[in-house]
Amino acid sequence: MTVLSEQSTLQPETNIMPNHDLIELRNSIDAILKKIEEIVNSHNEVVQYINTIRTIMNIVNSLGNWRCSTCKFNNNGLCMGWKLSNDAVDSLRKTFGIDAVNEVEGTQRINIRKLSFIGALCPIYSSKR
Ligand code: SF4
Repeated sequence: MTVLSEQSTLQPETNIMPNHDLIELRNSIDAILKKIEEIVNSHNEVVQYINTIRTIMNIVNSLGNWRCSTCKFNNNGLCMGWKLSNDAVDSLRKTFGIDAVNEVEGTQRINIRKLSFIGALCPIYSSKR
């Protein structure tokens, strides 16, 4: 018989009470495992939300791309229909990058090649035809 198998047959004396600290440790580990399980479950929910948002954005981008590409205000990928305030320019560049807006003859214009989703709900869309 090996030492390992001898050890596996060892049993605690039944009249020895479990150490209080060990019980506390066990409870703490159980609480941590429960918390980890909650985090994993909520992470899965977040991933589902992100996938849903991604799908919606793909549709919005496609729709916006089609509208901007057929709009009379589209001038080589820049929207000439909107004039942007400085705050709007700062906000768009901060969120989408410096090339989200381009200056044309002193006026800031939306780069619709990069922000085509804007066309999806644009109220001033006007067909080239
Ligand atoms: S649809 Fe709107 S955002 Fe797009 S080019 Fe036309 S006016 Fe600009």
